[in-house]
Amino acid sequence: MEPALPTAHHTKPASRIFNFGAGPATMPVEVLEKAKWELVNWHEAGMSVMEMSHRGEEFVRIAAEAEADLRALLAIPKSYKVLFLQGGATMHFSAVPMNLLRGRKKADYLNTGEWAKKAMAEAKKFCEVNVVASSEDRNFTYVPKQAAWKRSADAAYVHVCTNETIGGVEFHWTPDTGDTPLVADMSSHILSKPCDVTKYGLIYAGAQKNIGPAGLVVVIVREDLLGSALADTPNVLNYKLMADADSMLNTPPTFSVYLAGLTFKWLLERGGLAGIEKVNIAKAAHLYGYIDSQDFYSNPVVKEDRSRMNVPFTLKDASLDAKFLQEAEARGLSQLKGHRSVGGMRASIYNAMPMEGVEALVDFLEEFRAQNS
Ligand SMILES: *Cc1c(COP(=O)(O)O)cnc(C)c1O
Repeated sequence: MEPALPTAHHTKPASRIFNFGAGPATMPVEVLEKAKWELVNWHEAGMSVMEMSHRGEEFVRIAAEAEADLRALLAIPKSYKVLFLQGGATMHFSAVPMNLLRGRKKADYLNTGEWAKKAMAEAKKFCEVNVVASSEDRNFTYVPKQAAWKRSADAAYVHVCTNETIGGVEFHWTPDTGDTPLVADMSSHILSKPCDVTKYGLIYAGAQKNIGPAGLVVVIVREDLLGSALADTPNVLNYKLMADADSMLNTPPTFSVYLAGLTFKWLLERGGLAGIEKVNIAKAAHLYGYIDSQDFYSNPVVKEDRSRMNVPFTLKDASLDAKFLQEAEARGLSQLKGHRSVGGMRASIYNAMPMEGVEALVDFLEEFRAQNS
């Protein structure tokens, strides 16, 4: 029998900071402790997961359990394949058109910000991109309503980025694209709330925001969309070939898959996605509630489209930015600097950020405001 874990943390160990970085991002401390405990000798295997053959019995079991747990969390139907791939979400900006054009020459994209733009730029290498709507007119501070979308009749799919990590804009509704498959980049909010997978043709997400370490991309795809990849598609980017090989056409990122699996179990132990959503709603309400309560800080996003995961905000006096960041860092509130493309601050409060961290941040925000205004 395995020895029990030495500690079960319900609060942050003193040695750890609150990391508000957008990604790679904070992970559940319980997951890190378990991985540490199992690192050198996984379940009496006499070796680390990193040292196992990906074709060996142990790792095949680890990967199968990770998939089963992810399927349980998202209630993924049997008609969908779950793939554990590589290349970051960025690689899948290309892999999506390569696999899903299916003989068509056009795809519809919604332009909601920096990540949607990057996805479109890659797709243009493979097909005509029709921009159904854009929020660039108001600096990407809202999600264009579906009634205003100008879709094309012959698009192979409709692509959306359901949480813009940089702009802090999130879909709180699911588009209805009828028979045209809906494709979503969910990198920065997957598993933060329940999601009806059956509304999507394909969902993809890089792991380093809300799942685990970088190096892994989760792809959830309806099986009937597979099998018509462009002829030049590299085998490792061909979703059909990867699905047929249980994502092991080549060596998968084994340690990242293992850690993702631990995160899935961590979520299941906390009431699954409905359970974590409650915490995420409370965290976001506390932070936005404070930001809206005074005028020293502000967030530009339309209230109904604000992200629960990424909260950009600016100081009224930007000359205080450096002082703000320095004092935050000194209190163990780390990586609050906003993305270089938008400036200001950004607090990423993913699943693994406890309420305690958001409370510490809000306390600091108020103290800093009182001392500098
Ligand atoms: C981080 C991120 C990406 C890019 O991920 P990489 O792993 O760097 O390729 C793409 N889309 C969204 C929404 C992201 O947050």
